[in-house]
Amino acid sequence: MTARGHAFPARVVLATGNPGKLREMRAILAPWHVEVLPISDFTQEAPAETGLSFVENAILKARFAAEISGLPAIADDSGLEVDALHGAPGVYSARYAGASADDAANNAKLLHELAGVPAERRTARYRCAMAYLRWPVDPAPIVCQATWEGSIVEVPRGSGGFGYDPLFRVEGSDRTAAEFAPDDKNRVSHRGQALRALVAALAGGPGER
Ligand code: IMP
Repeated sequence: MTARGHAFPARVVLATGNPGKLREMRAILAPWHVEVLPISDFTQEAPAETGLSFVENAILKARFAAEISGLPAIADDSGLEVDALHGAPGVYSARYAGASADDAANNAKLLHELAGVPAERRTARYRCAMAYLRWPVDPAPIVCQATWEGSIVEVPRGSGGFGYDPLFRVEGSDRTAAEFAPDDKNRVSHRGQALRALVAALAGGPGER
């Protein structure tokens, strides 16, 4: 059953400016015939990610998107957690090597920080918190969280995905996330799992139709 007061929206704004994430999230929402509008249709600005957890940041991004668009909003906050680095880069994943760092700089910093750490201690996971707000001041956000386990390789491999994907070897596989086909990544990734859980919560069903 859908929670009372919640229903699948006809239109929703996605609070991400990251083209890689937008592509992945659109693909997962496609079967639901919901009109998905990127936040870039409304503003080029982004809220400061001041939260210290993925959940806090997901809610503040969704709140900003709902406010600016007047529509229900979905936002994710995600990142990489490396055990040998005590959870870094964590909520700072996008800006690990500095405020305007790109993927290459972040990946180079990660390899530098892990230099000399043996394979068995390079365990890591992607985490995602996915938040849905009906209104900017929604007293009952839906938040779904998921993880994707793996480890950090020493040499980047693959050209798919984005971010840390060329360095993230997926647990139980010989491949990095960048060597996964987009649909395969969506099926198993932290963001795919969290978004499907959110869709299931909104639709009151198992998440597929
Ligand atoms: P956000 O946009 O604040 O959620 O930052 C997420 C950051 O975490 C991205 O910029 C990437 O650095 C990293 N990240 C999150 N999910 C993924 C993924 O699926 N692949 C690679 N990097 C990811």
